[in-house]
Amino acid sequence: LIQLYLPLNFLGFVYRQIRQSLTDMEDMFSMLDVPAEIRDEDDAEDLNAKDGKVEFRDVKFGYDERRPILKGVSFTVEPGKTTAIVGPSGAGKSTISRLLFRFYDVNEGAVLIDGKDLRSVKQHGVREALGIVPQDTVLFNDTVRYNIAYGRPDASEEEVTRAAKLAHIDDFIRSLPDGYETRVGERGLKLSGGEKQRVAIARTILKDPPILLFDEATSALDTATERDIQTSMREVSKGRTTLIIAHRLSTVVDADEIIVLRAGEIVERGTHADLLAEKGVYAEMWARQQSGDADD
Ligand code: ADP
Ligand code: MG
Repeated sequence: LIQLYLPLNFLGFVYRQIRQSLTDMEDMFSMLDVPAEIRDEDDAEDLNAKDGKVEFRDVKFGYDERRPILKGVSFTVEPGKTTAIVGPSGAGKSTISRLLFRFYDVNEGAVLIDGKDLRSVKQHGVREALGIVPQDTVLFNDTVRYNIAYGRPDASEEEVTRAAKLAHIDDFIRSLPDGYETRVGERGLKLSGGEKQRVAIARTILKDPPILLFDEATSALDTATERDIQTSMREVSKGRTTLIIAHRLSTVVDADEIIVLRAGEIVERGTHADLLAEKGVYAEMWARQQSGDADD
């Protein structure tokens, strides 16, 4: 049986990724606390996302209706643009990504992709439209090639290599004695956090979705790895609508819009330059990170 290593709090995300191809894993997950299944409406239409425009319209949401987490969040990510969401931990940043995946339905307001309310479209199309590079990448106990091609098993060798090159991991893979046939995962070669993230980026490049979602790890990467990952991120987000849930502000500097979320509300928004000039919450976070203090 395929084994996964990841923190339990991330299983909600991964659960559905896996379900796509492995329905017999359901038993294994049924014991765990995963969100209740959202079902397609009888008249649900196909999403067929092309442009990949993302819109949150006055979204209000709580996992428990008595405890609101998002208190009226509105933003639009135009096709091909990048929006970054920053803010202290517990602000509701990852909740935004969960709603975009429609792991939950909003209590009020709406989440739309290409103008279509997620509640009116088929789940399948939503998952197809989104590529996620999660904080903790799931690697299967299989070869590197399998791990990159996962989701596009029909991909040619050339396509896999091209994706790995764009993700800046091809050289590393070639340096391994068994190259792309190296087994990774718990029973194989253990990859570092940065390497795993690049495998995830390669996987996403191969999937070729119109919308990308990065949920950054809080754990510190060394500066060189961080720079490398940022280069790969820029590469993969070219021409795609990108939402970055950021902990390291260095990754958001180039975003078209930065949203500062605090306790479920947008408290500041604008470009990096705008927000520095505003000398508010963001400027303070930036100053703190520049001085090397821990964030969050
Ligand atoms: P961030 O990503 O900004 O750190 P999250 O969106 O993960 O914050 O969480 C926002 C709030 O929602 C937190 O108070 C968290 O405890 C709560 N929360 C997150 N996931 C769940 C869940 N599955 N059930 C109940 N509460 C949750
Ligand atoms: Mg989070």
